[in-house]
Amino acid sequence: MTRPSRWPDALIVLEDRGFRLTGPRRQVAASVQRMKAGFTAESLCEANAGVGRATVYRTLRLLLDAGVICRLPMPDGAPRYQRALVEHHHHIVCTRCGSVGEFRDSTVERLVRSVGKELDGQIVGHRMEFYLVCRTCLETGGTGAAPPPAARAARARAGRPA
Ligand SMILES: [Zn+2]
Ligand SMILES: [Zn+2]
Ligand SMILES: [Zn+2]
Repeated sequence: MTRPSRWPDALIVLEDRGFRLTGPRRQVAASVQRMKAGFTAESLCEANAGVGRATVYRTLRLLLDAGVICRLPMPDGAPRYQRALVEHHHHIVCTRCGSVGEFRDSTVERLVRSVGKELDGQIVGHRMEFYLVCRTCLETGGTGAAPPPAARAARARAGRPA
């Protein structure tokens, strides 16, 4: 297990790459550390209400380019983000609650390398995401978190025979 405490180095990584960290950017970068894995750009904006949206999005882009956070495209809906705790990894994304996990597997890496040999050209990288319904969502039979009352009512109505 890699301890998440490694992550605050992201600020140093950005500075090493020559990004000038203004106060607001520094604040956004620091707040990413407190976000739940699988957060959205929108929730990051909410967590930084005093900072302009453009600055939040620009900082998100900087962190992505520096490789300290990952962007997870979702089958439907807004992409999710999370801190990259280890260098090379793949993702497990819950399509219901958006929670994100990381995994590494040497068998997968071997398979990817062998497939890569069959391809025309030089492989310079790959990414892989598994979309699933997480255990919490399976056990609660829903969204992993209590849905807003309106959604719950709509679902109850839909379930009743007409
Ligand atoms: Zn990741
Ligand atoms: Zn879930
Ligand atoms: Zn891999």
